[in-house]
Amino acid sequence: MNTIAHNFSLINSQIKQAEIACGRVSGSVQLLAVSKTKPASDIAAAYQCGQRHFGENYLQEALSKQQQLAAFNISWHFIGPIQSNKTRPIASHFHWVHSVDRLKIAQRLSEQRPLHLPPLNICLQVNISDEETKSGVNLAELPELIAEVRQLPNLCLRGVMAIPAPQTDYELQRLPYRKIYQVVSALNLPELDTFSFGMTGDLKAAITEGATIVRVGTALFGSRNYPA
Ligand SMILES: *Cc1c(COP(=O)(O)O)cnc(C)c1O
Repeated sequence: MNTIAHNFSLINSQIKQAEIACGRVSGSVQLLAVSKTKPASDIAAAYQCGQRHFGENYLQEALSKQQQLAAFNISWHFIGPIQSNKTRPIASHFHWVHSVDRLKIAQRLSEQRPLHLPPLNICLQVNISDEETKSGVNLAELPELIAEVRQLPNLCLRGVMAIPAPQTDYELQRLPYRKIYQVVSALNLPELDTFSFGMTGDLKAAITEGATIVRVGTALFGSRNYPA
């Protein structure tokens, strides 16, 4: 087995174990393989293992890999910060966008989504750590943004995404996810079925608190040369 195949089976069994440990239905958590900074050949290796969902942060890099892998049946997720002048290619080249944090970006994605494609799946990025520099909508403003984005015709609002400040303590890792989960579930909107919670360092805490997508880079493809 190559390294990626080995890592892939390890992560999948970790996900399964975490699902069982917190009493969730087996298979309710989907793995999103975060391939930023990694070559198309790494994506191909994970694809050979059965992985179909891949996450990218940088538009130009993603478009180049999409061209190289055009023959593969991949679901592409954009998970990086979005500048408003980049919304058009994002709207036409991705199946999901996890990092929408303001109405203007959502409106542009909806207007620019090609009509021959199904509605673009959207998660709203929530800033739970309240750090000035981090992108994301504050929890207090989340319900209003949800109400607005739900109205946009060419988007399918699926749920929320969060990147809390890194913590090593398991209980501290759980807290931000629990708060977001509570706010979203209280809205009682069944179409919001997606919680994009958890990365390599906090997979188990995120799954315990309701993650339906975990975004894993390092544990699958190894560490990256530049921080991202
Ligand atoms: C890089 C990145 C990940 C993956 O992080 P790892 O710690 O390498 O698993 C997940 N989500 C987002 C938004 C990222 O930018």
